[in-house]
Amino acid sequence: MKQLTIILTLLLFANVNAQTDQDVLKTIYTQSLTNGKSYQWLDHLSNKIGGRLSGSENAEKAVQYTKSELEKLGLDKVWLQPVMVPKWVRGDKEVAHFITNSSTVDVNICALGGSIATPKNGLTAKVIEVQNFEELSVLGEEKIKGKIVFYNRPMQADLIQTFMAYGGCVNQRYAGAMEAIKYGAVGVIVRSMNLRQDDLPHTGSMSYGDLPNNQHIPSAAISTNDADKLSEALKKDSNLKFYFKQNCQQFDDVLSYNVIGEITGTEFPNQYMIVGGHLDSWDLGDGSHDDGAGVVQSMDVLRLLKESGIKPKHSIRVVLFMNEENGLRGGKKYSEEAKANKETHVFALESDAGGFTPRGFSFDCSDANFEKVLSWKPLFKPYLIHYFEKGGSGADVGPLKTTSNVLAGLRPDSQRYFDHHHAANDTFDAVNKRELELGAATMTSLIYLFDKYGVDNIPEVKEFKN
Ligand SMILES: [Zn+2]
Repeated sequence: MKQLTIILTLLLFANVNAQTDQDVLKTIYTQSLTNGKSYQWLDHLSNKIGGRLSGSENAEKAVQYTKSELEKLGLDKVWLQPVMVPKWVRGDKEVAHFITNSSTVDVNICALGGSIATPKNGLTAKVIEVQNFEELSVLGEEKIKGKIVFYNRPMQADLIQTFMAYGGCVNQRYAGAMEAIKYGAVGVIVRSMNLRQDDLPHTGSMSYGDLPNNQHIPSAAISTNDADKLSEALKKDSNLKFYFKQNCQQFDDVLSYNVIGEITGTEFPNQYMIVGGHLDSWDLGDGSHDDGAGVVQSMDVLRLLKESGIKPKHSIRVVLFMNEENGLRGGKKYSEEAKANKETHVFALESDAGGFTPRGFSFDCSDANFEKVLSWKPLFKPYLIHYFEKGGSGADVGPLKTTSNVLAGLRPDSQRYFDHHHAANDTFDAVNKRELELGAATMTSLIYLFDKYGVDNIPEVKEFKN
């Protein structure tokens, strides 16, 4: 039996070597769509574990679960990389309302990650609505002091690349409190980063910058429907009072881990190509799209390489990063260790844009490497993968950037991503099995091609070989 397995394996490898790239991609896609593991892993992460905020018990469970699943794949190495992460806890469900013309309107609200609590009995104040920081400076302390600043700039609907629309808004959430504090605001509420009208508040990280603790003010997000209601009500009654209560808390940093698995390369074991997503998530939903999908797809890349009989020349690692959402500690730690260990990372691919139908990739690389990518476009055509553009890669792999390596990000269709992003409806039922599996196959195919044809202009590697 053992002999038969060896013979079959040898035949499979011989077969792969004789296969065209077209054949190999076909094998990879077939494997993912008929024998994929990504959806099953996501089911466990989402439904058996749930939201995985850094420093939480669930985040720890996710570390242990993914490590044990990677260990079952027969990789050459699986290990945990320790990293200290922030621990912020939401506490009780937040409540909010505003009172206008003696009627009370309830508001769907959630604390922003990193925010302080309101006073124990909540915070009540008048509201000043703005679209941006410039308006704040025009209004000045006289109009803002003692009030809650309400940032209500919507995501721009006519941008087809919804991440651009997000990028155009997110400073309200991240830096809104920092800016409002300058003018004596007592709290911040921000319109959720959501292109859809609904009742779900979307959380996300915020920062007080270097401001001392005694200047911090509570910050929260309200749903798009409620943002519109509040804005309308303010037009009629600019003196209306807004009330919200939250008891979130920041604790000391705690120990957590990046989870790493490796297939050691046959020709260039000291040159690394990595694929990853982030294991942590926000706590309102179960983090299925952000970024459970990227985690399970990345895990399946290594499994699909093996199942497809591909023996990579470079060492291929899956890296499940901890704490992308509110600190990026995992991404920073991984690159620090890579530098300290003089590991040459020639290629890094991240999936952190949801588990939707893959469209292609964006690349952060030299023109020569990008030309090489473009030459592979016809191979992807049968799978309706057409988007190959220069642009960003991903937050976690970003710190690995050198002048010569290639960073890439999977780019799924993004039209529905922000309906779910950081909200209570980022759940398993929102992920489609085939779409998820197509993403895993698309990522595996790109890794296969970069491994086979290499990355151009890698001076560090030449140094390494001497
Ligand atoms: Zn994410």
